[in-house]
Amino acid sequence: MNKIRFGVSYFTTRDKRHFALDLTEIKEAGFKYIVHTFSERDLEFYKDSMRELVSMTKDAGLSALADPWGVLRLFGGEEYSKWIYVYPHIRQKKHNGEEGYGACPNNPKTTELLEGWVDAVADIGFDGVFWDEIHLDDLACFCEVCNELFIDEYGGRMDLAPSIILREFGALSKRRLMEHLFSYARRKGLSNTLCVLPNITLEELESYIYLRDLDTFSLDPYPAVLKTNFIKFMEEHVPYLFKKARERGLETELWVQGFSLTEEEVSYIDSFFSLIKNKNIEVNRVAIWSFRATESMSYIRPENPEKVWKKFLSYMRRDGRVD
Ligand SMILES: [Zn+2]
Repeated sequence: MNKIRFGVSYFTTRDKRHFALDLTEIKEAGFKYIVHTFSERDLEFYKDSMRELVSMTKDAGLSALADPWGVLRLFGGEEYSKWIYVYPHIRQKKHNGEEGYGACPNNPKTTELLEGWVDAVADIGFDGVFWDEIHLDDLACFCEVCNELFIDEYGGRMDLAPSIILREFGALSKRRLMEHLFSYARRKGLSNTLCVLPNITLEELESYIYLRDLDTFSLDPYPAVLKTNFIKFMEEHVPYLFKKARERGLETELWVQGFSLTEEEVSYIDSFFSLIKNKNIEVNRVAIWSFRATESMSYIRPENPEKVWKKFLSYMRRDGRVD
């Protein structure tokens, strides 16, 4: 098995005195990088606080990646978006005419806001961006901007198109936005990691590997999402996708679910590392969501965060080896 670099996501506090304690624990455990959530709230109210946390992270010898946590509700995360209320015209429309929760991936204002977010990430001194679970509220967005684009590209109205075409258009919309943002971030000296939630087709998952300016292809095969398909996904789809990613020259990353686990489900972490070993999955980075098994967030913390955290650290001490 190749040497794995371990990472952890972090959002417990923006208080540098308290973060200093957590950072010591993170460093001593052997983590090599921290994915700091950097939400719209952080951008508005904690920009210089985040600058301090990132500087401390790098001084400790760890890399710091920024996560657009819940930003515009286009990305994953337990965080609200103010922007979709300040700019209501950018909200997605669903097939049935209802407003979606997230912003439209094809609206120029969405792109402008996300470029501003990247500017702040670069200015703060992050090493890269961890693009977290780009997703739409429906197969595609059905707003006016998208309808016009669809007519241009497919020569017909969206409401008459079959779902296979709508899904393709939705995926294309996400890929275009990501490719634009990857290129923008790269010009600012930032690396790009894209994490894709495996609740979409294998074909769509694979399509993200071929985006320009992507550095690391990441998957979060959480049992909370995959349910009984977890083992099949780890045994078949992860090796297939990571082989394609390596052929493309990308690094790979897997996330461990350190949240919403019952006491009995903690053994899933044993299955995770056994599957990596038994299927010879070559993965460069393994990270856990999140610090101390999400103990600080009661909404999703496991029944026994201490047990989850210690289990993960025990595999880290063995470099992920199962023996
Ligand atoms: Zn739209």
